[in-house]
Amino acid sequence: MAHPVLSPDQVAVITGGASGIGFAAARKFASLGMKVCIADLGADCLAAAEAELVSASKGGAANIMTMAVDVSRAEEVSKLEAAVRGRFGGTDLLMNNAGIQPGSAMFGPAENWQRILAVNLWGVIYGSQIFAPRMIERGRPGLIINTGSKQGITTPPGDPAYNVSKAGVKAFTEALQHELRNVKGSLITAHLLIPGFVFTGLTAKGRTEKPAGAWTGEQTVDFMIERLEAGDFYILCPDNDVPRRLDERRILWAAGDIVENRPPLSRWHPDYAEAFAKFVTES
Ligand code: NAD
Repeated sequence: MAHPVLSPDQVAVITGGASGIGFAAARKFASLGMKVCIADLGADCLAAAEAELVSASKGGAANIMTMAVDVSRAEEVSKLEAAVRGRFGGTDLLMNNAGIQPGSAMFGPAENWQRILAVNLWGVIYGSQIFAPRMIERGRPGLIINTGSKQGITTPPGDPAYNVSKAGVKAFTEALQHELRNVKGSLITAHLLIPGFVFTGLTAKGRTEKPAGAWTGEQTVDFMIERLEAGDFYILCPDNDVPRRLDERRILWAAGDIVENRPPLSRWHPDYAEAFAKFVTES
């Protein structure tokens, strides 16, 4: 059944909405007749995205809004909330999706860690804290979708700051959903979007063609909508290389490090290579 929020004249706000997964979501929501505001860095990328959104929008330009916002700055996120309320009356769907992945090293510069946490984690916290109370007051069904990552769950070696930020998004969004279901009168639900490998600016790394293993932003958004309509909290997306079953085994193995008292990240520890390979293929 179509989710009541995913319908004409409902208001969607998407951070990091000028490209990649966020832009694919904005285009989809616009095509459903929703009023859409994208928030992103920089006027140029917003203007290009706006033109495409207007042509995808059932309601044309009247239903599309853009705003230059740095999600790591609470005051800018507050201005975004107020501007959307001023123009469209309030927010029914918030997608805290802005993210960066510049790479990080365990003993690398603190400023790099701080920026990654500021955008990926604080952006989600500010967005949720600033928008959710207003969305609850509105008294209508609403959705808050926070974009996490498999890297925040299985925390593979190689990019520790990104993993920490996305593990924080997971923990925060779980707590947010617990809170929302206990607030009297709240019709808002939170959801954790966990994309697979999606071909976007974040992952392109100079490539101009989508690698065979990756999904497109559009596939990711279609899957997200299907799972929102099914009522899922954890929207665990496959891609062309990784089916759900493989993700399930990887997630179980990661949790098993604690239960089985193995070393952390044992999936990448040579002593456990054989056991992990067997675990993945067991039913
Ligand atoms: P993308 O680079 O195409 O989109 C991210 C958008 O966020 C960009 O438009 C960027 O300008 C914007 N942004 C960056 N910093 C910002 C800030 N401070 N304030 C506002 N906007 C800001 O990448 P994407 O792959 O579409 O990423 C979207 C989300 O999906 C991110 O949170 C990312 O971590 C997550 N994700 C992506 C993948 C993947 O394979 N692409 C996998 C897992 C998770």
